[in-house]
Amino acid sequence: MINFEYTPEQAREVGKKLFFNSTSDSDDKASGLKLILKAHSMHDPEATYLVARFLLDGILKANVKNGEDYALTLMCSSANNGCIQARAFLNAYCEDRYQEEYDEHPSGNLHEALVDFDGRPIKVNRQGVFTPIDAVLEYKNGSNVLTLSTNVVFLYGDEIKAPERFSKAVIDGILAWQGEYEVFGGQKLTVKVDLSFEDKVYDNLLIIPVTGTVGSTIEKVSNIIPLKIKKSQLTDAVKNKRSFATIGFKWSVNSRKNIFILSKDGCFDDYEEIKHVAKHEFGHALGLGDLYASASDSLKGVNKGTFAELDSYAINDNFYNLVMCDHHGPISNNDIEMVILAFRENEQQLYQPGRLKRKISSALGKGN
Ligand SMILES: [Zn+2]
Repeated sequence: MINFEYTPEQAREVGKKLFFNSTSDSDDKASGLKLILKAHSMHDPEATYLVARFLLDGILKANVKNGEDYALTLMCSSANNGCIQARAFLNAYCEDRYQEEYDEHPSGNLHEALVDFDGRPIKVNRQGVFTPIDAVLEYKNGSNVLTLSTNVVFLYGDEIKAPERFSKAVIDGILAWQGEYEVFGGQKLTVKVDLSFEDKVYDNLLIIPVTGTVGSTIEKVSNIIPLKIKKSQLTDAVKNKRSFATIGFKWSVNSRKNIFILSKDGCFDDYEEIKHVAKHEFGHALGLGDLYASASDSLKGVNKGTFAELDSYAINDNFYNLVMCDHHGPISNNDIEMVILAFRENEQQLYQPGRLKRKISSALGKGN
C-alpha cells in the first residue's frame, strides 16, 4: 500500500528502498517507482533526478517527441534545485559525448614540450610584482605543467558569519582549475594552482563579498585600491545578485583582478554555490570571456554547431554545461587552451565577439 501522506522526501526514500532493494519483487518495484514519481510530482529534486535517469535508461517512457531532451531538461531542473547527483550526471554525460567526439583522433606529441595548433612551441612565463596571477608553463621530467599562482586577499570584516566556510568555498572554487587536461591536439598538460595568503596591497587577487550595497563595497575597496567599474555592471549585479570579476579596463596579464561575490540570501554560507561562482569568476581573472548559448548582456550568444568542441556540452540548445556559461559546469580542455593563449598573447580570449567587436579565441573551432 502506498501512503500518500508522505512528504516528498519520505516518498522518495521509501520509493528508493522498494525499487532498488535486491530482494524486491516486481510489485515492490512498481510501488517504489510510483512513490518516486509521486515525489517527483511534488518537486523533490532527487526524485526528479531519478526519473530523468529512468527515462534515459529506458525504465520509463515519456509521452513526448524527444525523450532524451525531456530527460535532460528534468536533469537540469534537478541540478538547479541543488541535486548534486544530477549535476555530476550532467557533467559526466557531456564529458562522455566530448570523449566520443575526440577519442578517434590520434593524440600526438605526448612526451615533448607543448606546441600550439601550428606546431610552434608554447612559451608562457608571466610573473612579477605587476602580474596579479602568475602563469608559468614548464616541461619537466617528461610532462608539461602549467602553474598558476596568486596571492589571495579576502576583504571583509565581521559581517561574514562563517568566514572560514566562505573562504574555503572560494579557495576550492579557484583550485577547481587544477587537473589533467589534453590541449592543442591531445597533448597532456597538468594544471597546478599555487595560492598564498599574505596580507599585501599589490600583486594579489582580491576577493570581496558584497555584504552591504555594492556602492558601499566599492567605496570601501576604492580606499584601498583604485577601482573603476561601469555603473551598468553594478546596477545589473545588484539587481540580479550576480557575482562578477573586474579585470581592469581591459584584461591583460598586468591588469588588476578582483572578484566580487554576491550571495542570494546575503548569508555567504552556501558552500557549493560560492565555490562554483568563484570557479567561474576566476576564469574571467584568467582571461576568459563569458560563453552564452543565446543573446544576453549585449552579447550575441554562441549557437550550437558553431564550435564542434563546445557542442558536446550543449544541453537542448539552452546552455552549455561549461564553466564560463553555467558556473556549475566543468572546465574543459578548450578552456585551458584559452587560458594558455591569454597568457601567451597577453590578450583576453573570447567565445563570442564583445561590444568592441573583438575577435574570438583562436583555440575555438580547432577541436581538442
Ligand atoms: Zn561571467
